[in-house]
Amino acid sequence: MAYDFDLYVIGAGSGGVRAARFAAGFGAKVAVAESRYLGGTCVNVGCVPKKLLVYGAHFAEDFEQSSGFGWTPGEAKFDWATLIANKDREINRLNGIYRNLLVNSGVTLHEGHAKIVDPHQIEINGERYTAKNILIATGGWPQIPEIPGHEHAISSNQAFFLKELPKRVLVVGGGYIAVEFAGIFHGLGADTTLLYRGELFLRGFDGAVRKHLQEELTKRGMNLQFNADIERIDKQSDGSLKVTLKDGRELEADCVFYATGRRPMLDNLGLENTGVKLDKKGFVEVDEQYQTAEPSILALGDVIGRVQLTPVALAEGMAVARRLFQPEQYRPLDYKMIPTAVFSLPNIGTVGFTEEEAREAGHDVVIFESRFRPMKLTLTECQERTLMKLVVDAKTDKVLGCHMVGPEAGEIVQGLAIALKAGATKRDFDETIGVHPTAAEEFVTMRTPVAG
Ligand code: FAD
Ligand code: NDP
Repeated sequence: MAYDFDLYVIGAGSGGVRAARFAAGFGAKVAVAESRYLGGTCVNVGCVPKKLLVYGAHFAEDFEQSSGFGWTPGEAKFDWATLIANKDREINRLNGIYRNLLVNSGVTLHEGHAKIVDPHQIEINGERYTAKNILIATGGWPQIPEIPGHEHAISSNQAFFLKELPKRVLVVGGGYIAVEFAGIFHGLGADTTLLYRGELFLRGFDGAVRKHLQEELTKRGMNLQFNADIERIDKQSDGSLKVTLKDGRELEADCVFYATGRRPMLDNLGLENTGVKLDKKGFVEVDEQYQTAEPSILALGDVIGRVQLTPVALAEGMAVARRLFQPEQYRPLDYKMIPTAVFSLPNIGTVGFTEEEAREAGHDVVIFESRFRPMKLTLTECQERTLMKLVVDAKTDKVLGCHMVGPEAGEIVQGLAIALKAGATKRDFDETIGVHPTAAEEFVTMRTPVAG
């Protein structure tokens, strides 16, 4: 049977655009549907605008520290509306670039909500199209628990478009988004509380990293409330929010921001017209080649709920395009040693096993750790300390994990990730000459283990 398209991609986000462009480049006839914004979550309400806001928040400490270097900055004033307007302009520019990327690579763009009507057919804007393969790349959506008054809370989707910077913000959650946005609001001058239900935030990160960030955020004056959960939120007559905790305490805020994870975006997608199955958590179930239980339908990115990061969605997009249209080039994606950063202030950068994971996996480990005051701060009052940690296998000398909390941790860990991917040993680290004077050189000069 002749189909309208070889591949119909639903969702022009990180993974969908990558798969569509590469598939078209391999000679396939490709269409992509997008209902909201070109570039998806990362470009519009994720990585990019978030990082711009983090940069904005970072200026506060630069102004403060500059006096140690002889500067007398004028009275610093911050205008939220300017930052948001400039951010919006940049995102609009990126939307245009994504449009050009798609069109110039020969992909047909359909702007509207796509619904699957049968395993080879899509309906969009009242039209139907057939496709040999359909790729679900619809991403995720913020998930807010349905406690009484949850309608008064916002998620990251709204946070990027607030009309003004709230004076008092309560951020709920202990994952990437909660920690990053707490840093943004705090850095920009809002009275910020981070409220997390467990003992210590950032579950899954190395214990030393979690503790170190807790200490640094406390030093900065952020109010951290752990073992705390919200019972209800009530709007008061003056517009402020009264937040009642499960332990009976009451807090007041002007904005309650939930960052409690993301669900797969499957709304009105028509999966009931297919044999696609969901896993226990509700994400689309795929095999190692991204094929769903319906042979003509594939899925990737946040909607499959593996590793919810843009570079992973991009790599999956490339893998799908190759698998379908250039199978001789196909290589399965290696999900080990994926580096990641949390753009908190200070940043976290990490790659490989945490100490806890390494021990659990049965490794006999040697730990190297360094905490120091970065050189830049020596002329300032700032008492912030940087943490660097290496997890090494005692038997093979292989470096299993690198972890850092400190300025530019994400930038530094990207390079280390290549070394770890290549199987570097501690001896390789030791024999690498440092770049002086940098903070990063500490990673090649740690000689004495702190624990074995
Ligand atoms: P998405 O990028 O979400 O794209 C899905 C697209 O599908 C959307 O544009 C959506 O509108 C469209 N769509 C959905 N349903 C339909 C339909 N039925 N018809 C048509 N179109 C549809 N990752 C990092 O690596 N680094 C970061 O710093 C980072 N920061 C983040 C910050 C925030 C606040 C958030 C929320 C996420 C962040 N992420 C970050 C995660 C990253 O954004 C995602 O992992 C990535 O965008 C996933 O890509 P995707 O292609 O799976 O989905
Ligand atoms: P995460 O899964 O990272 O964190 C969710 C947090 O919310 C956890 O601390 C979790 O607690 C808590 N939580 C979950 N449910 C509830 C509930 N019902 N009540 C109270 N707390 C709850 O999700 P995020 O929303 O922060 O981010 C989504 C994903 O987006 C991330 O996992 C990451 O993959 C990606 N991302 C990446 C970024 C980056 O690369 N820099 C930045 C932002 C997002 P517990 O741990 O106890 O389960």
